[in-house]
Amino acid sequence: MNILVINCGSSSLKFQVINPETEDLLAKGLCERIGIDGSITYEAVAKGLPKVKKDVPIEDHKKAVSLVLEALTDPETGVISSLDEIGAVGHRIVHGGERYNSTVLIDDEVENAIREMSELAPLHNPANLIGVDACKALMPGTPMVAVFDTAFHQTMPPKAFLYALPIRFYEDYKIRRYGFHGTSHAFVSKTAAEFLGRDLENTKIIVCHLGNGASCSAIVNGKCVDTSMGLTPLEGLIMGTRCGDLDPAIVEFISAKEGISIADTEKILNKESGVYGLSNGLSSDFRDLWKGSDEGDKYAKIALEAFSYRVAKYIGAYAAAMNGVDVIAFTAGVGENDPRIREMICSYLGYLGAYIDADANKSRGEMAKISTPDSKVDLVVIPTNEELAIAKETYAIVAKA
Ligand code: AMP
Repeated sequence: MNILVINCGSSSLKFQVINPETEDLLAKGLCERIGIDGSITYEAVAKGLPKVKKDVPIEDHKKAVSLVLEALTDPETGVISSLDEIGAVGHRIVHGGERYNSTVLIDDEVENAIREMSELAPLHNPANLIGVDACKALMPGTPMVAVFDTAFHQTMPPKAFLYALPIRFYEDYKIRRYGFHGTSHAFVSKTAAEFLGRDLENTKIIVCHLGNGASCSAIVNGKCVDTSMGLTPLEGLIMGTRCGDLDPAIVEFISAKEGISIADTEKILNKESGVYGLSNGLSSDFRDLWKGSDEGDKYAKIALEAFSYRVAKYIGAYAAAMNGVDVIAFTAGVGENDPRIREMICSYLGYLGAYIDADANKSRGEMAKISTPDSKVDLVVIPTNEELAIAKETYAIVAKA
């Protein structure tokens, strides 16, 4: 069975077709600038054809899905002969609130619940639902499945997920830590245990998902006990353009100093901060930051130092929370491809008996153990694959139904 994986944003729609049993990727692509002008990028991986980008008017998400389905079944570039070969559609849904701790088949009740939780993810959940509706309209009868970014973190205990605010804010408004990147944290922790030949049920793992968005999580025996993102994906690590942890009083302070609204201040925290902000606007891309730093740019250097230091602090906190750590896994764009950042982070971990192997750490973009043989903690690089994880979860749900 093939699964169509959809990750729908307000003006974009990313897709992949995956066979979850063989783990083969058949095709992938992206519709962009939906409702503005429009373009579709498509790659028929199964046919070995190169990536093609076409500018085409895309007035709404339904049109985007119809273009995707046309490309997938096209006699020349298609990878399936009819839509019947798609057994289900797996939708990435950002916020499942406290209601969903696992993947579910989408029915009217689930759709309504996702809509209700839009309050917690106003930019994401409504866009995710538009994708669900567009697929339902064009593929009636095909099961739609919701895979939530927050679900894996629902095992956190109250001491980890509560903020120290008047408790009624949690009870009345559900203000609490939810955490994100859950599909990645689940996939990477499971894959790391398999790769190392360890029993997931008997292992303490810290996953460092370091990409443009970045988060850490503490996983005991396969269950998440803490994670760095909070009510929204703004908390925790320093990210590409997001500030991560901050004294909450700073928001009002900036707003007063700059004469801007709280909403505009929040935009700065989300889009102009992180390593981008620290590097004085040089870049949010670590390749540019290293180039700058190597050429003597002091802002780029401090951005890299602050980023690594923050990750190391979270690793320390989570090692304490779990009373030890067996495995630290690095993943996502930076975690998989940037040996120098991994080395900087691990330079803080001697007290844990965690030692990085300089040669093994040269590895980029592939699964590797990067700790020395005498290291007490296994350090690993595990490429994340959120789409494959979504396809597998979706398949598990429809196979059960
Ligand atoms: P992601 O959000 O997981 O797609 O990660 C994207 C980020 O990964 C980019 O913004 C870069 O900062 C980083 N990245 C990708 N490739 C490399 C590389 N070869 N070296 C360092 N950083 C990289």
